[in-house]
Amino acid sequence: MNPPDKADVVIAGGGPAGSAAAITLARAGRRVLLLERDAHPRFRIGESLLPYGNDLLRELGVWDDLVADGRFMEKRGAEFGTADGAHFQRFSFAQGLGPAHAFTFQVERSRFDALLFARAATAGATTREHAAVTSLAPDAHGVTVTYTHAGTPHTVRARHFLDATGRDAVSGRLLHLPKIATQPARRLATYAHFHGVTRNDGDAAGNITILRAPGGWFWLIPLDAEKTSVGYVRLLADLKENGLSPDADFDRALAAFPALRDRLATAHRVAPAHSTGDYSYRFRSFAPHPRILLTGDAAGFVDPIFSSGVLLALKSAHRAARLLLRHDERPLGPLTRARYTADVRRMMNLYRGIIRAFYDAPSFELFMHPEPPWDVRRAVLALVGGRTELPLPLRCRLHAFHLCRHLQRWLPLAPRIPSLTACPPPTQA
Ligand SMILES: Cc1cc2nc3c(=O)[nH]c(=O)nc-3n(C[C@H](O)[C@H](O)[C@H](O)COP(=O)(O)OP(=O)(O)OC[C@H]3O[C@@H](n4cnc5c(N)ncnc54)[C@H](O)[C@@H]3O)c2cc1C
Repeated sequence: MNPPDKADVVIAGGGPAGSAAAITLARAGRRVLLLERDAHPRFRIGESLLPYGNDLLRELGVWDDLVADGRFMEKRGAEFGTADGAHFQRFSFAQGLGPAHAFTFQVERSRFDALLFARAATAGATTREHAAVTSLAPDAHGVTVTYTHAGTPHTVRARHFLDATGRDAVSGRLLHLPKIATQPARRLATYAHFHGVTRNDGDAAGNITILRAPGGWFWLIPLDAEKTSVGYVRLLADLKENGLSPDADFDRALAAFPALRDRLATAHRVAPAHSTGDYSYRFRSFAPHPRILLTGDAAGFVDPIFSSGVLLALKSAHRAARLLLRHDERPLGPLTRARYTADVRRMMNLYRGIIRAFYDAPSFELFMHPEPPWDVRRAVLALVGGRTELPLPLRCRLHAFHLCRHLQRWLPLAPRIPSLTACPPPTQA
């Protein structure tokens, strides 16, 4: 089939954000061209979902695909601790969030993203793989998009362009959009898939485990019956100082901490390790032109500690798609663009707040307390579960949590955890 030279919306990036937007727009009858630089299935990091994203996955028609696949691991909670094994807290979604959000899935992204991309095609979007956007020319009436498909350049004219290219952020790069660094400390994540990692028993078998170490943290994410994703995030400065390669430093760190050693005693790697800079940023505007919207990581990247990336990608894409449905041929006005930016930024900032708590040693002590004052744990659990629309009582509890964590510096509301040295927290932006 010849590629279309006109579309209502051209979407660059066939990850969760791009496919979610394509499904919503195509179902409503819009002509959508979804361009993906690579081909599915392809490796991606970001494997732990949050239960408050389930409703959107249901709406997109993907939840049934996940259930039918049968291989995705059910995630019924999250647990946080210290890598020396001395401290541990488990959050069960059923207890904290109620039966409607009792579980979600851990997903091997190659399969998850391929399901979403296929859904976009079923919904009526024209999908192209090996199709990389190379230039954008927005004007008052639309956007002219150039992309290469299997080595041949193509041009398509669209009323609107939606950037879902993840951290490649194609429009940010091509249009030189102003960008704000939201985490001054540069970190590097190294991760790999393993077989034979020891699992929890019963309902907690699919839990994500996050273990804090001085200057960094580890994740363990059970992906299916055999495979577990294990990752290590540390300060780039520390890696430079010890002089090891990222891979060798990953092996060193896994052997160095008791809690990791125990879980990995009988494990072996089944895929090579990958490394990714964990550098948080956001663009100043997520609607930098009346014809262009940014979604997911292409709008901003939030530190992955609370597994919020896919949720924010799906939510921002869904909001962007609905905005485009309301505007149809019309350009996005200044107020609409400012509101979209503010709304997506509000969701990102909810996470940035508790991310600061995680990296800051006194705040982490409060985070690890099983019964902190004023029941602030409920607000934290709501965010750990992906709830971004907080009712007033939970908003008050979240403010109380931030107040308590400031007090914790001087007044120990929670027991001290001496094994942690503070690592620089992200800035609020
Ligand atoms: C170390 C680490 C751990 C993480 N852990 C989690 C986690 O546990 N849970 C979670 O929810 N999130 C996690 N994340 C975040 C998660 O990876 C992202 O937030 C999520 O993938 C964003 O989805 P997206 O659709 O915006 O972008 P992506 O998933 O990055 O998809 C973007 C797509 O655009 C394509 N593309 C790029 N350039 C072009 C171009 N020029 N033209 C066409 N296509 C293009 C790419 O090939 C890609 O397929 C983690 C991130 C990191 C770095």
